[in-house]
Amino acid sequence: MDRNEALFDRAQESIPGGVNSPVRAFKSVGGVPPFIKKALGPHLYDEEGKKYIDYVGSWGPMILGHNNPAVIQTVKEAVDNGLSFGAPTQGEVLIAEEIKKIIPSIDEVRLVSSGTEAGMSAIRLARGYTGRNKIIKFEGCYHGHSDALLVKAGSGLLTFGTPSSAGVPADVTKDTIVLEYNNCDMLEETFEKEGEQIACVIVEAIAGNMNMVPATREFITKMRELTAKHGTVMIVDEVMTGFRVALHGAQSLYGVTPDLTMFGKVIGGGMPVAAFGGKKEIMDCIAPLGPVYQAGTLSGNPVAVACGLATLKAIQEPGFYDRLSIQTAKLISGLVQIAKEEGVAFSGQCTGGMFGIYFRPTCPASFKEVMECDTEKFKTFFHAMLDNGVYLAPSTFEAGFVSITHDDSVLNKTFEAARKAFKEVR
Ligand code: PLP
Repeated sequence: MDRNEALFDRAQESIPGGVNSPVRAFKSVGGVPPFIKKALGPHLYDEEGKKYIDYVGSWGPMILGHNNPAVIQTVKEAVDNGLSFGAPTQGEVLIAEEIKKIIPSIDEVRLVSSGTEAGMSAIRLARGYTGRNKIIKFEGCYHGHSDALLVKAGSGLLTFGTPSSAGVPADVTKDTIVLEYNNCDMLEETFEKEGEQIACVIVEAIAGNMNMVPATREFITKMRELTAKHGTVMIVDEVMTGFRVALHGAQSLYGVTPDLTMFGKVIGGGMPVAAFGGKKEIMDCIAPLGPVYQAGTLSGNPVAVACGLATLKAIQEPGFYDRLSIQTAKLISGLVQIAKEEGVAFSGQCTGGMFGIYFRPTCPASFKEVMECDTEKFKTFFHAMLDNGVYLAPSTFEAGFVSITHDDSVLNKTFEAARKAFKEVR
C-alpha cells in the first residue's frame, strides 16, 4: 500500500468519504485520489513524490500557477503583520478599488470567504431590494451549496447523479424556479406569467459546472432585456469565469451589464476570498446601510486579501490573457487532433484559461447534450492520463483550467500522455 492509499484509508476513518469536498473523492471515476504534498508552477506532487501536470488549479484559483514567487512573498509579509483583526484594513479598500477598476458594472463590492456565501448573500440582497421571493436558476448551473440554490445544480451533484440535496426542505426551494439553460422561449414564458414576482435571475454566463457550456449571446441578451423590463435583479455568477475567461470577466465577452456579480476563486489567488457587488442602489441595501443582513468573522481577512491583490496585480501584466488564451487553445486543438488521429469521438472548446473536453463528437450546447457524453470513456481516459502524470478534474461534468505557467513543454508532455490515453479509450 503506498502513502496515498494509506492516507485515503486513514482519512475515511475520520472525514466523511475521506474528503472535505465531495468531488475530490474520485467517486465517479473510481480509485484513490493522490494526496497532494506540494505544488509548483503547473505541477502537483503527491505524497509518493509523483509529479502531475495540473489542469484543475484548485478548481480555478491558480491562474498564475502554483507558488507564484511574488504572491508568496506578499502573503509572507502580510502574515508578519498578524493573521486577522476583525476590523477594517487598507487591503480591503485596495482590493475593492481594484475590482471596481477591472469590472465596470461594479459600483460597490462586499468581500466574503466563499462563492457559496457570495451566492446566498446576492440572492438575499436581491430579495430584500425587490421585496419579491421567487428566483430563477438554470439546470446544470451551480452557485454554491446554500439551500435555495441546491436544485438541479451541477458540479458534485451531477457527478453523483443527485438532482438536489437531501436536507433541503421543500419550503426553502418552493420559490426557486429552475429553467433550461440556453432556452430563451422558456425564460420569456416564465417572465410573461410571473415576471412581477421574480426577485432575481442567477446565471453562469459560461457554465463550468456541467463541464463547460457557454450561454448563447441571444440567451444572455434576452435575460438582460426581460430582467430590466420586469424590475428583476440580474446576477451573473463569475465565481469561476471572473478574471479567468477574460480580464473583465464573461460579462465583457457578452457585452452585458448585470445588476450584481459574484466573484470567487481567482480573486483569492488560492486563499478564501470571494465577493458580490454591483449597482450602488442595490448594494446600499446591505447592513449597516440597509435592512439586508450579511456578515462574516473572517470576511476581508488581511492575509487572504493580500494574496488576492497580488494575484489581481499579476493578471493585469500586458499580454497575460493573450498568452493564457493561446496556451489553452493549443491544448484543446492538440487534444482534439490526437483524438481524431486515434479514432476517438471527442470534442473540446475553451475561452481564456477555461476549457471543456467531451467524449462526444461535438461540443454540447445544452445540459441535455452534456448528459450524452460517454462517462465510461472519460473514466478510462482520466485514469490513463493520471497514470501518465496528468491530473484532470475527476468528473466528466467539470471544466478544466490552464495557468500562465503551462508552457509549450508542459503541453507537449500532456499530448504524449493523451496519445497513450486515447489508445486505451479506442
Ligand atoms: N459559483 C460557481 C460558478 C462555482 O463554480 C462555485 C464553486 O465551484 C461556487 C459558486 C461556489 O464557490 P465555493 O466553492 O467557493 O463556495
